[in-house]
Amino acid sequence: MDTAEIRRRFVAHFEAAGHQAVPSASLLVPDPTLLFVNAGMVPFKPYFLGEETPPWPRATSVQKCIRTPDIEDVGKTTRHGTFFEMCGNFSFGDYFKEGAIELAWDLVTKPLADGGWGLEEGRLWPSVLHGDDEALHLWMKVTGLPENRIVKLGPKENYWSMGVPGPGGPCSEILYDRGPEYGPDADWEAMGTAMAPELEDRYLEIWNLVFMQDELSAVRSKEDFDIVGSLPKRNIDTGMGLERVAFLLQGRENMYEIDVMFPVIEKAEELTGRKYGTNHDDDVRFRVVADHVRSCLMLIGDGVTPGNEGRGYVLRRLLRRAVRSMRLLGFEDRALPELLPVSRDKMAETYGELHRDWDRISTVAFAEEDAFRQTLRTGTTIFDTAAGQVRDAGGTQIPGDQAFALHDTYGFPIDLTLEMAQEKGLSVDEEGFRRLMTEQRERARADARAKKGQQSNAGSYREIADSLGGPVEFTGYDEIVSEGAVRGIVNASGRAESAGEGEEVEVVLDRTAFYAEGGGQLADHGLIELESGARLEVFDVQAPIGGLIVHKAKVLVGEVTLGAHAQGLVDIERRASISRSHTATHMVHKAFREALGETATQAGSENSPGRFRFDFSAAGAIPQSSMQDVEARVNDLVMADLQVYAETMTQAEAVRSGAMALFGEKYGDEVRVVSVGDWARELCGGTHAHSSGQLGVVKLLGESSIGSGVRRVEALVGGDAYRFLAREHLLVAQLTEALKVRPEELPERINDLVDRLRTAEKEIEQVRLQQLLAGAADLAAGAQDVDGVSFVGHVATGAGGGDVRSLALDLRGKLPAERPGVAAIVGSANGKPSVVVAVNEAGRAAGLSANTLVRAASEVLGGKGGGKDDLAQGGGSDASLAQEALAAIRRVLVESRGSSVQ
Ligand code: ATP
Ligand code: MG
Repeated sequence: MDTAEIRRRFVAHFEAAGHQAVPSASLLVPDPTLLFVNAGMVPFKPYFLGEETPPWPRATSVQKCIRTPDIEDVGKTTRHGTFFEMCGNFSFGDYFKEGAIELAWDLVTKPLADGGWGLEEGRLWPSVLHGDDEALHLWMKVTGLPENRIVKLGPKENYWSMGVPGPGGPCSEILYDRGPEYGPDADWEAMGTAMAPELEDRYLEIWNLVFMQDELSAVRSKEDFDIVGSLPKRNIDTGMGLERVAFLLQGRENMYEIDVMFPVIEKAEELTGRKYGTNHDDDVRFRVVADHVRSCLMLIGDGVTPGNEGRGYVLRRLLRRAVRSMRLLGFEDRALPELLPVSRDKMAETYGELHRDWDRISTVAFAEEDAFRQTLRTGTTIFDTAAGQVRDAGGTQIPGDQAFALHDTYGFPIDLTLEMAQEKGLSVDEEGFRRLMTEQRERARADARAKKGQQSNAGSYREIADSLGGPVEFTGYDEIVSEGAVRGIVNASGRAESAGEGEEVEVVLDRTAFYAEGGGQLADHGLIELESGARLEVFDVQAPIGGLIVHKAKVLVGEVTLGAHAQGLVDIERRASISRSHTATHMVHKAFREALGETATQAGSENSPGRFRFDFSAAGAIPQSSMQDVEARVNDLVMADLQVYAETMTQAEAVRSGAMALFGEKYGDEVRVVSVGDWARELCGGTHAHSSGQLGVVKLLGESSIGSGVRRVEALVGGDAYRFLAREHLLVAQLTEALKVRPEELPERINDLVDRLRTAEKEIEQVRLQQLLAGAADLAAGAQDVDGVSFVGHVATGAGGGDVRSLALDLRGKLPAERPGVAAIVGSANGKPSVVVAVNEAGRAAGLSANTLVRAASEVLGGKGGGKDDLAQGGGSDASLAQEALAAIRRVLVESRGSSVQ
């Protein structure tokens, strides 16, 4: 049965049982605790946490997931993908354990002909949390299995929580026994309550049912937590691995061989000429390729671009591992142009947007592979140098700091360094490397902790949100002065009853007109005034958890107390200015899509007073002409004074109305759509100008690349745009005045001036050199005899490296050829000294070396130097030591004469 059919049957089974089928959310849900969606329940978190009311009592989904912790297992176990799809069913305070067990058991055991999966009962082993007798008895009742067929496991396997205070509960799993070929028979009694690792490939976990019933007050580890009570509404959250069931039903050995993944392995076989299934190490590589190529495809599809941290780094690492595995399989050409389309064709059967966005996806992926290939090339040169040095020094080990530098500076993976060292018969100081890595990681962690400091109030926020009994009402779409009450105060040590003059605090009101930073729009500023006469200055506003708006403010006068009536006064100018920027961003976004095509989708933005930044996907630099077209189009529509309005509608209606849905949009029934006339329509929660005419002028400043496949445009709006243009105009006026030409003649005139300046500089250069050389004959005539050597030492103030060299060579030629001769010149240009030493043939025959002499002089000048025996040059940092440098040359000259005489 192909994967698509398994998916279809799963959804149909639960739809028939009254579940709302919900489409997969993007991998990038906005959740500060997660890099990626890693389970089916993530998009439903607000419902499980009681932050939002679920629109349906039951739901089912097939959710895209990424699990980076499983990366090392890929290809080695049979069952771990970095990307996979989790089928799930969810009950929000509706059915509980019995319903969940019945529904799951029914689907897995129902005959194929009746729409189930027809798995043999004899091979299925349900598991429960040790001590969860309710689940144990329900399994016995529903399945008819005896007690010894139900496995009892400890909290490590079978207790679920989010790792923080909140909901938790016991789990049940369904394990599938693949038979004795895959491991020893389980002795469940003897095993105790932790699953023995050697059993995991044989007793494959396909489904996990979470019974959310407990309220946790503390979670110290997976097995150490405090249950304080029962949840008022008990929930069900289940997760079934689509790929795992697929490989069982398709009679395959592992998840990488299923219908939607194996074609990539086949393509890799074709490219590398190697056969899958002949050699274990190669097989792991083939599976890594199949898994990682698919993960990269899905990540880029959802808008991730490669980078050096966070999500971008995960993508980069996966992509590099895929490319690297292909190299280890013997394929050194560009691999992704061959492999990615194969994965796309399979995955697009479910995710059609992969075809639509192919230009963008492939551009990003291929550019990253090319960059990595470049890294490999430079890294290889650096590596060869390092290896050469080790050998020259008679060593056998590449030092840890070199391996670290290769990794850190050139992005050269350690396994590559290890392998290449081995090929050269060298080892690597791995311990030293790992020590440096740990140090770096600790530094990064300390940084992260420092950043997180601001979020340490999470517990207080949650308590305040709970005490409100509903979300804070945001009134700022319609008003800029709001009436409300102080419902929460948080200071450095947590929740507080009051705060006095001079204190910086965080204040929660039940109603507020202040916009919290979000959706690329900066926070409002302003004042909060209390009845008592107290006054606070608001300098930041954030929404740290759903439904809560937190004002960061300083108490200017009086005291703020819980319960006090509060008037919120938003800084009107700042708000209006930010709103104009936000509207301008929508217009520019739309205009770029008109100019460049639908793939020019927004990848980020920042709307601040008077200016905005807008990032979007594009394959390469935007031509100047497109920039001008976009700017002209936007300004035309500014003049057309289009009305800007917001409407709330269902997602389906929004899509029908042509609204651009953006990444990371949370699934929910109602969405807010902002329209600029009938022209630009976007899902948006921000504030806007009332009509496009209020924008006045929009001026694009330029565009640049901020990573592969993403461009950034910066722009000014309204007064700021006008002032910018006025300033530029003044500048042009000053230039035309100074150069006495018309504005349109300026570029030509300036080019002309620059050319003439260059020619003049060259001429001056020539004259200076001639002067310098003209003095050479005199200098040569004044040569001194130093132990039988004709020696000229001269300081040429103002002469740069090239002149110094010409002079030294010229002088050498003027010294008598039959005697050893040395010319040494120290020059200085812009305060920087340079030194050149030239030795004639007789001098070299007598054992003199320009290289040795120059080193001595450079050392004195505070720098380095070197070259050959006949000519060498160096430099330094202190030109005032020129005479001392010449003295050093003489000294070494005398020394080497002494040693050659002996
Ligand atoms: P395992 O112990 O096998 O790693 P898990 O306990 O981490 O699994 P859950 O978090 O309970 O798994 O996820 C629910 C289901 O999702 C699992 O029963 C399994 O079928 C599937 N699943 C989990 N991780 C992966 C993965 N990396 N690749 C494919 N499927 C997975
Ligand atoms: Mg796991």
